[in-house]
Amino acid sequence: MARRGLYKSSADLRAMVHPGRATAASLAAVRSAAKPGVTTLELDAIAEAVIRAAGGVPNFMKEPGYRHTICASVNDAVVHGVPSGRSLQAGDILSIDSGAEIDGWNGDAAITIVVPDLSRPELVTSRQKLADATERSLWAGIAALATATHLNHIGAAIEDVIRSAGPYGIIEDYVGHGIGRSMHEDPPVFNYRVRGNGPAVKPGLVVAIEPMVTAGDIATHVLDDEWTIVTDDGGDAAHWEHSVAVHDRGLWVLTADDGGVAGLAPFGVAPVPIR
Ligand code: MG
Repeated sequence: MARRGLYKSSADLRAMVHPGRATAASLAAVRSAAKPGVTTLELDAIAEAVIRAAGGVPNFMKEPGYRHTICASVNDAVVHGVPSGRSLQAGDILSIDSGAEIDGWNGDAAITIVVPDLSRPELVTSRQKLADATERSLWAGIAALATATHLNHIGAAIEDVIRSAGPYGIIEDYVGHGIGRSMHEDPPVFNYRVRGNGPAVKPGLVVAIEPMVTAGDIATHVLDDEWTIVTDDGGDAAHWEHSVAVHDRGLWVLTADDGGVAGLAPFGVAPVPIR
């Protein structure tokens, strides 16, 4: 977690485009495959195949003791859910976190989806509301990064979206991070207001912004598998994440297919490709 690599070179940023794209592709494939009856281990295999076909390596496998490409966190699981033989059920809220390493550079991103359930429209609607609010807060945070002078200012933008969306909680036990040669680097990226400004936002800063939001209380604990983080109160959770690069001409969302064009449009921010 050396502070020395906080701002990356233009060549470094160019190198991070490829793992970002592979990470996005793995999540797109998982999204289309996530149907009732499919197991999270099957989703894991799909994500791994996509990353390897792109010439990448699943970087979560480099975490000591972790053997999978994705984390699959269902219902009350917030993050770090371990893929298993459990089948997806109609109505489940599922967060998928994935990451690729290519040529020694990393991407990291997460999406939350709600499996359709025609027999329980109210459950689906409330879970989708939670997922949508979390995604919107992520884009608000990324948009704030486009104009922020200091990194910690984006936490306020994320928090404001969540506070106005409903009686939700923002997880504080886990936060976002810098990303580059390692998946997890300095600086920490807070999803809520904190004291202090944090590092200056300037070209070369690359961060994984990842709000984790609960339908109830924010207290969590780790399951006996020593990975899965669940809410203490059993309430639902959602998690969205993108790896984002600040460069000398603007900002680019490395793990979005379109670099963030669609997600940032509502905020009047136009991402600029890295070249
Ligand atoms: Mg992350």
